[in-house]
This record gives sequence, structure tokens and C-alpha cells, in this order.
Amino acid sequence: MKPIRKFTVRAVVPATLAPLEELAGNLRWSWHEPTRRLFEHIDPELWRSSHRDPVAFLGEVDPARLDELAADAGYVAWAERERAELQEYLSQPRWFQTLATEAPRTIAYFSPEFGITAALPQYSGGLGILAGDHLKAASDLGVPLVGVGLFYKAGYFAQAIGDDGWQQERYPVLDPDGLPLSVLRRPDGAPVQLALALPEDRVLHARVWKASVGRIPLLLLDTDIPANTDELRSVTDRLYGGGGEHRLLQELLLGIGGARAVRAWTELSGCPVPDVFHMNEGHAGFLGLERISTYIAEGLTFAEALQVVRAGTVFTTHTPVPAGIDRFDRELVERYLSSSLLPGVDPADALALGAEPGADPETSAFNMAVMGLRLAQHANGVSKLHGEVSRRMFGDLWPGFDAAEVPITSITNGVHAPTWTDPALLGLAESRLGTGDTEHADWLSGALSDGEFWSVKRGMRLQLVEDARRRLAEAWAVQHPGSPVPTWISRVLDPDTLTVGFARRVPTYKRLTLMLHDPKRLTAILTNAERPVQLVIAGKSHPADDEGKRLIQQLVQFAQQPELRERIVFLPDYDMGMAEMLYPGCDVWLNNPLRPLEACGTSGMKAAMNGALNLSILDGWWAEYAGDDYGWVIPSADAAGDATERDALEAAALYDLLEHRVATRYYERDGDGVPREWVRRVRQTLATLAPELGADRMVKQYVEELYRPAAEHAAAVLADNARGARELAAWSAKVRQAWPGVQVVHVESGGVEEPHVGDELHLRAYVGLDGLAPDDVSVEVAYGRSHDGDTIDGVRHAVLTPAVSNPGSPENAGDATSGEPRLYTGTVVLDRAGAFGYTVRAVPRHPLLLSTAELGLVAVAG
Ligand SMILES: *Cc1c(COP(=O)(O)O)cnc(C)c1O
Repeated sequence: MKPIRKFTVRAVVPATLAPLEELAGNLRWSWHEPTRRLFEHIDPELWRSSHRDPVAFLGEVDPARLDELAADAGYVAWAERERAELQEYLSQPRWFQTLATEAPRTIAYFSPEFGITAALPQYSGGLGILAGDHLKAASDLGVPLVGVGLFYKAGYFAQAIGDDGWQQERYPVLDPDGLPLSVLRRPDGAPVQLALALPEDRVLHARVWKASVGRIPLLLLDTDIPANTDELRSVTDRLYGGGGEHRLLQELLLGIGGARAVRAWTELSGCPVPDVFHMNEGHAGFLGLERISTYIAEGLTFAEALQVVRAGTVFTTHTPVPAGIDRFDRELVERYLSSSLLPGVDPADALALGAEPGADPETSAFNMAVMGLRLAQHANGVSKLHGEVSRRMFGDLWPGFDAAEVPITSITNGVHAPTWTDPALLGLAESRLGTGDTEHADWLSGALSDGEFWSVKRGMRLQLVEDARRRLAEAWAVQHPGSPVPTWISRVLDPDTLTVGFARRVPTYKRLTLMLHDPKRLTAILTNAERPVQLVIAGKSHPADDEGKRLIQQLVQFAQQPELRERIVFLPDYDMGMAEMLYPGCDVWLNNPLRPLEACGTSGMKAAMNGALNLSILDGWWAEYAGDDYGWVIPSADAAGDATERDALEAAALYDLLEHRVATRYYERDGDGVPREWVRRVRQTLATLAPELGADRMVKQYVEELYRPAAEHAAAVLADNARGARELAAWSAKVRQAWPGVQVVHVESGGVEEPHVGDELHLRAYVGLDGLAPDDVSVEVAYGRSHDGDTIDGVRHAVLTPAVSNPGSPENAGDATSGEPRLYTGTVVLDRAGAFGYTVRAVPRHPLLLSTAELGLVAVAG
């Protein structure tokens, strides 16, 4: 029988065990092992079967067992200690509080998905898990951040695999009452309810759930409330479920509703009003328009408000391919922006922000990443290589500038060590290395023998083997109700075989099936009698992506062969719960994307933190961290003639490495069966690579390189009744208007008849300013090596200064309106021998601009 309605009745915990409820109510348990041990002690078997989710667990525990523990003074004291520890964690100064700065006051961090724990499935993959790790590290560091997202009733989707290997999707509905969430309420108890005006006099209402992620509040907006029509209730039904209008409604809610939710939160909690807004990818871009609308209400123009918003906004791009970017039909967006959704904002101004550069503004799609970059003065990619790719990909927004000058920097992603390090390694660090900080433990210490390390790693592998068997048996039972689970499932995988993992979403560029390129060769590697290899694979394809589902099917069918099925398994329903077992159980983590399409990739980082070596294409994070002790580089065949040839070459390299380098090394054992050289590399990875990969390193970089500058910049433009913003807006308009008339008219040089290293090149440039003041522009010489006549390599810039007076017309020296070109002069020292080239350019100059390229205006000589 199917219930017509479901809800969760929360357990009544005996009064002396109240600390358990408090601990369950803060998601810090998702990365705090001591808290988990406290719960596990109550009923270890039930703890595992309730997926280590304390809220669900407490709902299931036998009340008699709770009564028993309530009378156990030792347990009660233990629970009290953990509660006191949590209170201390929440209130004591941490890293951020030791900085000699007040900025930023608060960062509002917007993301369409958050992966914090498998128990709160509000993520699809890397982007969301990164957001979760960002919040957790911010909490650990005491960074004042508030997270903003949506609450999806069915999360992403649950994956099953049919006998034919085809992916099936299920959408189990979540009950927020059974999750560690509480409704945001006003002091009188009424829930905060947001309202967004839509076309045709419709109104989209949302309530706000709050989760506590350690010290960080996370606000999740939910439209499934009676105030909405059925149609609008379903706006937050699924993550990345619909396209077009449904997706647009989600993003309007996230950006505009999210900004309003933050305002309600700051009023209710007394938390300082955010001075920095961070968009994790373009989906939340509408938040900038909402903020512009509020500044317009305070008396600024659109252009002035835009300056304020830009100054305090950080935009992070995650995709290296234009196809991965959210784009909407322009007319659809126009229809929504023409309602009273954003009071005071002229739809034409808003639409212009999303117009793609170079495209016809009347027909161009509305591009969320382009809008994000125009709304944010601070932008970054997520690895060094991805920073380069992004500067090229978005270069058209700053026409006339070299890619190197495009104002998009990079901060390489990190992963939250306490979440992603296996408890067995934590136990080892505690017992042998004297620390509970696995990320900074001395893994090379002689206090820990290779033999002991290896036996702990075997335990982690065994745990994965058992988890895989259990998952496959459960999946079988669901697919074949009533029929017994075949015995071969209890024999899949082996805890003493070299274990290679590969798990990720299944977009084409990740090349799930590269390993199948030569099935015979792969079969030989897997079934090698002396040096066998086993493969554990998982991944979900987006429900609308049949190509991805075909790849999964191919792989599943390969793995179904009776002679291989114990050596290669596809585990259905990849999620954080599986990931927790998978990374620690692997010896090698395989990653073979098409370079450079993996923006960063974080799964390999998580594997490294659990003592796995990486076998990867030099892409994303691995391109900057690869090292001989940390794994192997699969060479990229970038120069191959076509995609097929490239796949063939890269697959062949993969097989060679796996067979002749990886497996040989793994099975090279000492008298006690310990692979000494392998263990040495793994310990080196934990000691020197892992500390670089932490989300704490990443969040510190965000604070120092983006958040603090953004907060200071926002304060500068807002000071004195937004004087800076008003000035900058007026000045930008003036400069834009004059710019077509700005030109470098003539350049003279002297001092280099027979140039030698050390000589000085004297430059005199005459620049027509078309009414601008000499200080409105910066005239620069750009110089460097020039081998062919067309390019300058390794460009450097030196600023030329306005001459005190114009030769020949001294009486006009300070008069910019004379129309005469102005003289700028300067000197470059020729400090290197060889081919030299230079040019002179004029660019806008204002103390509140952060980069030369910011306005996308430049006038180059010649
Ligand atoms: C880490 C993780 C990802 C992202 O991995 P990538 O290497 O970035 O593709 C996706 N899903 C889960 C469950 C993860 O834990």
C-alpha cells in the first residue's frame, strides 16, 4: 500500500541524553569522528544500516537501549564532554579571529548545490561537494560565511542499473522534518516567507530551511509550501531536473530569493550584513541584480549600483567548455525581468549584462557566466590550468587585451581532510603519530612501521570489498525480487589485489570507457596470474544524457562477463556515502579526461588523502601537483590527428603504465610481504602532497586573495554615501563615450642606433585624448621578445608620464580640451639581448579600477 502522505516523528530522547540531540542537530558530526563514535556506541549495526546519519539513527534506536544509556553515568558524561567540545568549537577564536583585520565582515556564499553528507543529498557531483567542503573549512577556520542554496525535494536522483546495463533513475522524496534542518522563523514564531513577483501577477513563495554546518549557517530555499500553486510548488523539486523555464525559475529563486533570505537572516540573527557575495558558478548570478535593485531603492542609478555590487562580488567559474554554461532564451528572461520582480531595474540594463560579446544583442542568448563576470570585479578559475583556459575562453569580454591580462585569477580547489580521511588513518595518526590532524601528521615518522601502515591500508581495502559486495547484493535483490543472490557476488574483489578506482559523473569528456579501448589488453591486465589488477567503477549520467548512459551500459556489459566479473565491478548509485569507502579502499585512482576539460577534479585529491597514488592525465589539479612519488602521468596525445587516434594513443599509454609500472611496483614485496617502495611513496604522498590539497589551504586563499580585497573595495566605493561608486560610474560613462576618439597618434624613439644590453630606449608618444584629461588614461609601452613581427612574447609594461608641457604650445600645457595630442614620455632599459619589440597603448586609468583590462578599452599604436 502506498501512503498518501509521509512525515517523520522525531525520537524522544531521555533528558540526560539531550546532548545527543544537540550533537545530531549540527552537521559537524559529518566530519567529527569523536561525535560519530559516540553515536556508534549506542548500536553499531543500526548505526551502519542508518548510513551514519544521527537523525535517522536516533529515530530508529530501541527506546530501551536509550533508557539503559541514560542510566549509564559513564556514557552520559561522555555525551556531555562531546557537547561541551562542540560548544567550544562554535564559540572560540579560530584562524580568522587571529588576523589583524575586520574585513570581510560576512561572506554570503551562493551555490546551486551543497554536498555536506550523504544524509542531505543536495548535490550532483564535484561542484556541490566543493561547496560543502568550502563551508566546512570556513567553519574550522572561523571564517564568517553564510551559505545559500535551494532545498530540492528529491535531491539529484538515485541510480539503479538494469540487467541490460541501462541506467534507471528514481527520485526518492526527502522529508525535511527528518533531516537536521529547522525552519527560519521570526521572533513571533511565524516562518520567514519570501515572495518573488512573477509575470501574469503570479507570486513565487518560498520558506527557508536552516542547517548548521559547524559554525556556518546554511540557508536553503524551498517552494513546496501551501502558499504556492501546484506548478510553483515544484520549482525546487529536483536538482538540474528541468531545462528552460523551470531552470530559470530555480535560478531566479536562488539569486533573488537567496539575497532576500540573507537579509532576513541578518536581521533575525544579528549577523553582520555581508560585504562580500560569492557566486559558486553562474547559477546564482541574479543575486547581483537583486542587490542592484536595493541600491536603486536607496537612490543610486543602475550604473552606480553596478559599481557597488561589482566591488564586493566574487565569481568562480568551474567549466572549461562553453557548452557547460547556463544559457537562457533572451525573450524568456525578458518576460520575467519585465514584471515587478526587481523594482527599479530597467530590463534592458539587466539583459545587457547577460548578452554574449560579439553576438547581436537582440538575439543573443542570456548567458549566466557572462553576467556573473560582469557583476563581479573578482573572478577565478579552479586550478592554474583552468585559470589559463578561462582567460582564453572569456577573453572576448575584454577585447584588445592578451589572455594573460584578462582579470580572472585561479585558486586551486581543495578537499576537506576531516571529512575525507578514513577513520582508520585517523586512528593510526592518533595512536602512532600523536595527532588527530591527519593532514599535518608526520607520516614519515619512524614511530610507524611500513608493515603496520600496510596492514591498516589492507583493512581499508577489505572494507571497500565488503561494502561493494553488500551493495551489489542489495542491488541484485531490488532488480530480481524473490530470487536468491548468486554466490559469485560474495566473491567479487579481493582485499589483497591491486585496486584501481574510477568514479565520477559521466560526461563524455571524462572518458569512462577509455579503458575499454582494447578489451583484450584490459582483460589480460585484470586476469594476470602473478600481478592481477581489480577495477572498481561508479558514476551517474545526467538523466537526459543518453550518450552517458550508453557508456555506462558498455562498461556494465563488459563487467558482466563471468570470467571478469570478480575483477571489475560497477557499483550503482555513486554518492558521498559510497565515496567514503571507495577512496580509502583504492591503491590507485584513475583519471583520464580529455585535457584540458577537467577544470580541477577533486576525487584524486581525496584518494591521495587516503593513501592512494594517482594515475592521471596531466589535467586540472594534477597538472600542477604531479610528482614521481605521488603517482604516474598518462601522457596526453594533444597532437594526435583526431579524437579516435588520441583515444588509441592515450589508452595504450594507460595500459603500458598499469601493466609495467604500477602493477610491477605494487607486487614488489619484501620478506614480510610489504611493498616497501610503494609504501614509501604513499607515506610521502600523505606527508607532503596531502597538506597542499586541503580545503583549509583553499579557503585561506579565498580570504586573502579574493574576499578581503573585495570587502575593502566594496568599502571604498560605498564610503561617504557611495561617493566612489558615483564617481566611478560617471567617469566610466565619460571614458566610454570618449574612447572611440582616443588614439596613439605618433611614437618617437631615441637612444638606440646600435642597441646593446643596458642601453636605454627613450620614448615619446603623442596621444589624442578627445577631451579626456591626461590623468584619465595611462599610456604604457608594452615590450618583450619579438621573433616574428606579429607578436611580443613575455610582455612587460612600463608607464609613460605626461610631459609637463606640450612642445611648441607651452601655453596649452594643462588644457586637455585643446584637441592637440598630448605628449607622454618614458624610458625602457634593454636588459636582455636578442629580438626586441614594443608597442605603445593607452588604457583608462582610475584609482578604483582593479585591473588595466577592466573596462575592456584600449587604444594601441599603429
Ligand atoms: C569528489 C566527488 C565528486 C567529484 O569528483 P571529480 O574528480 O571532481 O569528478 C563527485 N561525486 C562524489 C560523490 C564525490 O565524492
